[in-house]
Amino acid sequence: MESTLRRTWAEVNLDAIAHNYKTIKEKIGENTKFLGVVKADAYGHGSIQVSKLLQELGADYLAVSSADEALELRVNGITMPILILGHTPKEQVGRLIEYDITQAITCKAKADEYNAEAIKCGGVLKVHIKVDTGMSRLGYLCDNKNFDTGVEGISEACALPGLNAEGIFTHFAVSDEPGDECLKYTKHQFDLFKRVIAAVEEKMGHKFAIHHCANTGAVARFPETYLDMVRPGLLLYGYGEYAKEMGLRPAMTLKTTVSTIKIYPEGTAISYGGIFVTDKTTRIGVLPYGYADGFFRSLSNKCSLMTKGGPAKLRGKICMDMCMIDITDMPSVDVGSEVEIFGENNSIDELSAIAETIPYELTCAVSKRVPRLYFRNGEVVEKELMLRF
Ligand SMILES: *Cc1c(COP(=O)(O)O)cnc(C)c1O
Repeated sequence: MESTLRRTWAEVNLDAIAHNYKTIKEKIGENTKFLGVVKADAYGHGSIQVSKLLQELGADYLAVSSADEALELRVNGITMPILILGHTPKEQVGRLIEYDITQAITCKAKADEYNAEAIKCGGVLKVHIKVDTGMSRLGYLCDNKNFDTGVEGISEACALPGLNAEGIFTHFAVSDEPGDECLKYTKHQFDLFKRVIAAVEEKMGHKFAIHHCANTGAVARFPETYLDMVRPGLLLYGYGEYAKEMGLRPAMTLKTTVSTIKIYPEGTAISYGGIFVTDKTTRIGVLPYGYADGFFRSLSNKCSLMTKGGPAKLRGKICMDMCMIDITDMPSVDVGSEVEIFGENNSIDELSAIAETIPYELTCAVSKRVPRLYFRNGEVVEKELMLRF
């Protein structure tokens, strides 16, 4: 059975992602590897489709957050190296080895656990060592007081027979934030990372094959941090101020349609709670798009969506499956008219600012019930419906 599609859908422009990849590649240069971050279903864009494209374009590495996300790519034809950034239960080590998936090693306990499991399986697990230089999340703690123990722990992990330490990496906490303090913090993290690498490599007597740390903020602003490989996510999908500065293009356009139009007299309270009351005769369009599709209820009464007649204000509370826009001054907008929630004509950066969040959260939130249409050269090349017909 076919989906009707004309409800609410996401258009993913693979050409935009290809353009972004090539533009970033030009910036980082021939000799720097490109790791595309495709965790969380490629920030909601579809990790299989995005990974296939990156594989075709010649990218070097992918990163996901879990073993399930990595295996999903493997069973769907992705053969390029994949790094798991997050936690993997030790019971999965055998499968990681079998499917040639690289695991981040974040502390001594995990190193020992994964090593024991790899030996039990009769294999060697490829790993990248994660250094905590100030993100204070995962990774070997290596700040001033912990420098020696950190270096010691990493060196021990690298010597374990069940682990093959291909790479070492760290993650920046404020590389995308403005201001001198953040600049200083990032530089401190980077310097510490370099000192850890030097100390560990001296102990080991050889170098890691891949050193990496540059996320979106660092790719855009700190070329000195590129090392062997960069690790952008958001930039690849074309959102945020740095993407704009670099001439990158937003990959996703989220669209819906006007399902019903109603004319209300002055003094009518719209939707749950009646937080919006009409102050004149008002023409309201009902959209089949609500918080179950990933709209943030906190945007109720606060944002505008783009119609062919211009931006239309959202009126009243956002419901589970619907929301309402004011099209009083837009006679050209009719039942069936397309409405852009975000995309080329309604910036996700502005929408996320109104929601007091970041664009990442909005694309990740587009729910599974929203079909994805994949475009190349203006043509739909794939439909991902996520329905169980
Ligand atoms: C998510 C993530 C990235 C990508 O971050 P962006 O800000 O989207 O570039 C890079 N590295 C790690 C470790 C991450 O978790």
